[in-house]
Amino acid sequence: MSKPTNISMQEVWQQDRDHYIHPWTDFSTFKETGSMVLADSDNVHVVDGDGNRYLDGIGGLWCVNIGYGREEMAQAIAEQVRQIPYYSCFGHHTTVPAAKLAAKLAELAPGNLNHVFYGCGGSVANDTAVRIIHFYFNQLGQKSKKKIISRIDGYHGSTYMAMSITGVKFDHIGFDIEEQLVHHISCPNPYRRPAGQSLEDFCNEKVQELEDKILELGPAKVAAFFAEPIMGAGGVIVPPEGYHQKILAVCRKYGVLYVSDEVVTAFGRLGHMFASEAEFGIVPDIITCAKGLTSGYLPLGATILSDEIYEVISKPQADGAIFTHGFTYSGHPVSCAAGLKNIEIMEREQLCDQVRDMGAYFEAQLKTLLDLPIVGDVRGRKFMMCIENVADKETKALIDPKARVGNRIADHCQARGLIVRPLAHMNVLSPPLTLTKEHIDFMIATLRE
Ligand code: PLP
Repeated sequence: MSKPTNISMQEVWQQDRDHYIHPWTDFSTFKETGSMVLADSDNVHVVDGDGNRYLDGIGGLWCVNIGYGREEMAQAIAEQVRQIPYYSCFGHHTTVPAAKLAAKLAELAPGNLNHVFYGCGGSVANDTAVRIIHFYFNQLGQKSKKKIISRIDGYHGSTYMAMSITGVKFDHIGFDIEEQLVHHISCPNPYRRPAGQSLEDFCNEKVQELEDKILELGPAKVAAFFAEPIMGAGGVIVPPEGYHQKILAVCRKYGVLYVSDEVVTAFGRLGHMFASEAEFGIVPDIITCAKGLTSGYLPLGATILSDEIYEVISKPQADGAIFTHGFTYSGHPVSCAAGLKNIEIMEREQLCDQVRDMGAYFEAQLKTLLDLPIVGDVRGRKFMMCIENVADKETKALIDPKARVGNRIADHCQARGLIVRPLAHMNVLSPPLTLTKEHIDFMIATLRE
């Protein structure tokens, strides 16, 4: 790992600041500070343009699961580029990696989720799910079944539809969202439940809220429910025990499809290739995934459908409709080759087992920070964790947003060689799955400081 020597980092910094519109960025502060240029990487570390090394506590953006700098990934990608870098999969063409990865995902996904549609990331995987669901109910003759229910603080992406399904209120400020189709119920955040309420009552209340919402909108109008197994960008919210199973039962009762957004949770972050069944005991109708599918080495997302849904959308339609949905880069062979190599590495190195072992240590060590005066909650599972900072641990009162506590903690950590993600008053940790005890000890000591 070394910084490139033939590039002026000052020039890069300037070009970036003047011309690159960064995603999800406050341009007012960006214009003053510009960006930290990342120039190199290895395993769990990244290196900036000045050669400073950082432990990447957030795995890029919850995604660099196998770690950085894998030579065999570089080779697999280069080999595919040499063989055939692109071909359209519209209609009756395919490529070796697109077909093989689909079969592999069908093998790994729970239940009879055996059919894979590819896109370029998580937002597109969720948009695709909505189009499939609408097409599916139209073909079943249930044309009024169009509405989507999701949850406040759920995050499902940044395209128009995925952002409408997203329930993080802050993300909607200054934008319009689709309000006819999408409806939100409240977030099952155990930390913020009313004082004295049991977890079981809290859980049942949230489940009842879904049933009430379906009845209010009319079961004949509600098509699907979208949920992350553990909410990520909404603050790493682990729902109470049994929540997903009870929610699925309500969906089944009213013919509402359950979409499990596993964009963050799939491919090892919770110690399983998919978390829906292995961690939460449910087999949804659709799983969407991205991020860890290629460990971020190339863009790729997938929408994985059950046999039942595939049967309906693939049979000859009375109205002559065919499934007119897809992208130039659906099933891009180089991305699919990266996906296959990524899964091969995860299986060979038993990274899911490692996460189950090391995740327990990570959780336990992070919880030691609860003795600090501002740490109100440490939550999450395994390699998907969050620290919630509060003004008062008793009342759980929030710290004034102007204090930018999450950002200040992230800045302090970065100055000490650790990248953590600020999320309002919280800090999120989603490191590469190759993290060792020594790395964890460094993270905890740095956070404590
Ligand atoms: N769904 C979840 C749960 C996510 O966390 C994200 C991104 O963070 C998305 C969807 C959107 O994925 P992408 O940014 O690849 O479009």
